[in-house]
Amino acid sequence: MNDKQQNPQPQQQPANKLQNPRSWIVPILLLLLFIWMLVPSNWNRTQISYSNFRAHVEADNVARVTVQGDQITGVLKSPGTKKVEGSDDVQYTEFETYLPSFGDEELMSLLESKNVMVNTEPTRDPWLWYGIISFLPLLIILGLVYAQTRRFQSQGGGGIFSVGKSQARMYDRSEVETTFDEVAGSEAGKQELKEVVSFLKDPERIRDMGGEIPKGILLAGPPGTGKTLLARAVAGEAEVPFFSITGSDFLEMFVGVGAKRVRNLFQDAKKEAPSIIFIDEMDAIARRRGAGLGGGHDEREQTLNQLLSELDGFEPNENVVVMTATNRPDILDPAISRPGRFDRKITVDLPTTADREQILEIYVRNKKLGEDVDLKALARGTPGFSGADLRNLLNEAALLAAREDRDVIHWVDIEEARDKVMMGLQRHGMTMTEAEKRMIAYHESGHAIVGALLPHSDPVHKVSIIPRSQSMGATQQFPEKEQYIYRKEYMLDRLSVMMGGRCAETLVFETATSGAANDLQNATLMARSMVQEWGMSERFKYMAPGGQSKEVFIGEQLGKSREISERTAQEVDEEVEELLRQAYERAMQVLRERRHTLDRMAALLEEREEISGEEVRAILKEDENGSA
Ligand code: ADP
Ligand code: MG
Ligand code: ZN
Repeated sequence: MNDKQQNPQPQQQPANKLQNPRSWIVPILLLLLFIWMLVPSNWNRTQISYSNFRAHVEADNVARVTVQGDQITGVLKSPGTKKVEGSDDVQYTEFETYLPSFGDEELMSLLESKNVMVNTEPTRDPWLWYGIISFLPLLIILGLVYAQTRRFQSQGGGGIFSVGKSQARMYDRSEVETTFDEVAGSEAGKQELKEVVSFLKDPERIRDMGGEIPKGILLAGPPGTGKTLLARAVAGEAEVPFFSITGSDFLEMFVGVGAKRVRNLFQDAKKEAPSIIFIDEMDAIARRRGAGLGGGHDEREQTLNQLLSELDGFEPNENVVVMTATNRPDILDPAISRPGRFDRKITVDLPTTADREQILEIYVRNKKLGEDVDLKALARGTPGFSGADLRNLLNEAALLAAREDRDVIHWVDIEEARDKVMMGLQRHGMTMTEAEKRMIAYHESGHAIVGALLPHSDPVHKVSIIPRSQSMGATQQFPEKEQYIYRKEYMLDRLSVMMGGRCAETLVFETATSGAANDLQNATLMARSMVQEWGMSERFKYMAPGGQSKEVFIGEQLGKSREISERTAQEVDEEVEELLRQAYERAMQVLRERRHTLDRMAALLEEREEISGEEVRAILKEDENGSA
């Protein structure tokens, strides 16, 4: 199947860039000049030797000749043949040859005696020729400069002199018609943004109550989850001017331009206050400073510094809200999210099953669906899809249906479209098959049940099988209060919780998956610390055998580990393994006893993709009462 042409977010090119015919004149002229120079003027003439030419004259076979400098060209009366080594002989009537440098005084009289018509032409002026050739590079450079200037102009502005303008597009009060209703899911984020909108509509009301509105809002989440859409909805609902710009628009080939653009943008926005500034794709300018290879990027740092100082320079009564979006919050400079700057962070996650159903419902409104299309089932079968992916899927389905000449979209079209989109998604490694999803649901349920039932472990906060960039699922546990020292019982329970995922896999599917790799690594590290540093094993109660100092220098670590004998090292390994084995056995026992609950929870998780800690506890309680 061909899945090449899928492109969830079509690139928006400035339309006039390639269509403006004037910008093509210079390159085309240059090209013609080049071709004219390359194509030889003698392409249909055959070069022959001077003696051959003379023989033709003497045989009275030459109709006319043209003499130009020492070049002689002419036409034969009947064709001659020229032997070419390695291929067929060449027949020719037009020829070309050169007068020998010692001259041929008898040639003219010979030609006259044979009645050959003789034309003479002036030699081409070599100076003109050399002039053209030596000016060519200059012409090419001029052409490039010209083309570059045209590009600047077509990017919206008055040529090279407007590079400092902010480049932001301003949308007026009535231009944006997006509303919050068009954004499905992300309820918490929407709620927060609605507050911002109500502030911008009536700034005095909140200020009278002594409230202060956030100056900077950072939307963070994977691509295609509707961050830009949310920002547009804010613009549409707030009915105030909306300045929209993409991070990379600040950066130009000239140093200092970005900072100037930032300044201008904030000036413009303050003039129009109350207003909103939206900077999309923030990571283009706000990448962590001083990180990465190859030194810093001065222009970007200047731009970022300017942005930060503009944010700091805001008076609270200026009624300008700055929003920004990124899908790489991890690489943003920490200075960005300092209090007083982009300190409100709204996380926009991949949609859950219910969200996906809502999104699908939004995008089928303008499509004709067959009876057999079940949006609920589709939502369930598209884990890991973003809003943009879902929209793309429905669009593909509509195209497929049209190709098959159907009046409405059938389930087969949807299935095919899903496969097509999935294949694209799998390249970014974010989707899973139904079987994988089921496996992960059991794995996480294993963690959750063990975590909820063992007496010393932290309460379960949330279980999720929505894929993230780091892992395919997660069971979150938060301690009730902050702890600085941990007891052995807590550590042991925690080891068991980590084993819970692997246990569930083994218990249900009688197999092991690579998904537990992270769990096992963490558990091993912890068990090792318990044995080596904290004296929590049976064998080493009074000794920290090779407790490792967390020094940066590897050399020192190597030195330390020599302090224990081979035999002790072996015993340490055995103790670590014993701890892990016991933890595993305990988790397994819990899950065996609660096998029924495990099935129920996994099924629920598979359907909803996210369940809260309270629900986990409720399910456990219900089943206990039921079986008792
Ligand atoms: P982002 O900026 O997060 O990368 P966009 O806001 O550009 O993503 O989303 C791309 C498109 O996907 C939107 O224009 C919209 O059509 C669709 N979309 C994404 N998320 C949602 C959602 N939660 N509800 C409705 N449509 C969505
Ligand atoms: Mg975006
Ligand atoms: Zn796990």
